[in-house]
Amino acid sequence: MLKIGHEVVRPGKTQSDASYTIPVPEELETVPGIPTNQREVDWYSREYPIETMNITERASRDWANKIRDGHAEMREIRKEHDKLNRNLVMAARLTGDVEPTAEPSGQDVTEAIKEKARELGFCEVGLTASDRKYYFASKQDWVKFPHVICLAYEQDYEPTQTIPSIDAEIVHSSTYRTEGAAGLELGKFINELGYRAQVHSPNDNTGPYIPMFVAAGLGQLGACGYLLTPNVGSRCRIMMITTDADVTYDEPVDYGIHAFCQVCQVCVNRCPGRALMRDKIWWRGIEKNKLYFKRCRPVMARYLGCGVCMKVCPIQKYGMKNVMEHYAETGQVLGKGTHDLEGYEMEGMGYFGPGEMPQFDAGFFDMPHGDATEWAFDEFKKKAQEAGGEISDTLIGDFKDEVQRALGLSTDNLEMMYEEEDYI
Ligand code: SF4
Ligand code: SF4
Repeated sequence: MLKIGHEVVRPGKTQSDASYTIPVPEELETVPGIPTNQREVDWYSREYPIETMNITERASRDWANKIRDGHAEMREIRKEHDKLNRNLVMAARLTGDVEPTAEPSGQDVTEAIKEKARELGFCEVGLTASDRKYYFASKQDWVKFPHVICLAYEQDYEPTQTIPSIDAEIVHSSTYRTEGAAGLELGKFINELGYRAQVHSPNDNTGPYIPMFVAAGLGQLGACGYLLTPNVGSRCRIMMITTDADVTYDEPVDYGIHAFCQVCQVCVNRCPGRALMRDKIWWRGIEKNKLYFKRCRPVMARYLGCGVCMKVCPIQKYGMKNVMEHYAETGQVLGKGTHDLEGYEMEGMGYFGPGEMPQFDAGFFDMPHGDATEWAFDEFKKKAQEAGGEISDTLIGDFKDEVQRALGLSTDNLEMMYEEEDYI
C-alpha cells in the first residue's frame, strides 16, 4: 500500500449521490491545478493572444469537414446537429444583454447556483474568476462579466466505450445539445436571482476552457489534452456561464493526475495517430503533454472523430476514485494492458487489442494548413510554379473564389465543434 499524501472529498455525480473521497498517493502529489509560470502565461497572452482554430486552422477544418461529409452517416449526424443546435447557439449569443428579472437579495448565491446546476443534470460545477487570457482574440469584446461558472455534462457511458463509432458520434453531439439547453435554463435562473448571466454555448466556444475549469477545482489536464474530472474523467462536455452574481470562488485541486499520466500513458501508447507526447513540455507558461495536432486531425477526419484517447482512459472508464484507490493499493494502473480498456475498432481496419496499432503511410498525414486565405495563397503559388510561372486568368479566378469563400466562412461559426478546441 502506497502512502497517501492527501485526500480529496467531492460531491457525487448526481444530486442524490453521496459525496466520496479520492485518495492521492504521496508519490503522485505535485501542485493544485497545473504547474504554472505566471510570468510566461502573461507574456504569451499579451504577445501571442490565443485564437480559435476555426480561424487559425480553417483550411484543415474545411478539409476535414469535407472528408466527414463523404461518410453518409456522419454527414446526416452533422446536418441534424447543426439544424437542432442552431437556435441554442443563437440564443446563447444574446444572453449577455438579458436584464435580470428580479432584485438581487445581496446574499452570496454560489450554493443556489450549484444546486440548480446539479438539478439540471450537470455532473460538475465550480466557480472562478473569468480570465481574459483564455478567451480567443476574436471573442474578447463579447465576454462581459467578471465571474465564471464552469459546468460539465456527462456523456453516456455505453456509447462512449464504442469509440470511434457512429453511436459515439451521435451521443457526442446530443450531449452538447442537452448541455446547451440546460445552460440556457441556468442562465435564466441566475436572471431570476437578480443577476446577469452570459451563456457560452459549448458549440460556440469563447476560448479553451480547461484552464478555468482547473482553477475552479473541477479536475486536472490529462496527457490526452482533455480535462479529467473526478466524476467521469474526460467523458463529459464542458461549457461556461459568465456572471456578475455575488459568488465565492473554488480553489484548484491536486488530484494526482499531473504525475499519474506519466505513469499511465495508456492514451499515449494507444493513439492511432501517434499524436500524443510521452513527456511534458512547457507551453505558454504551463507544463503539459502537448498534442501533435497535425497527426490528430487526419485521423479524426477519417475515423468517425476518432476519440480513442477518451475511450482508453482509465479515469473515464472506471472513475478517478477507483483508479486512485487501485494505484494506492497495487502501484498499478487499473485496466492497463487489458482488452476491456485498451481495445478499439477502426472502421474498415478491424480490431486493435493491446500492443496492436493501425499503420498509416506518411501521405496519410498530408493536409492543408493555416487559415483558409493562407492556404489559398499557398495553393495559388504551387499551381503557378507547376505552370512554369505562368499566371493564367483561370488561376487568378480560382484564387479569388477561394479567398472569398474563406472570408465568408470565417465570420459565421455555427458548425459542430470537435475536441481540438479544448487543446491549448
Ligand atoms: S483523437 Fe485519436 S488521433 Fe487524436 S489524439 Fe486522440 S487518439 Fe490520437
Ligand atoms: S489514459 Fe492515462 S495518461 Fe492518458 S489521460 Fe488518461 S490517465 Fe492520463
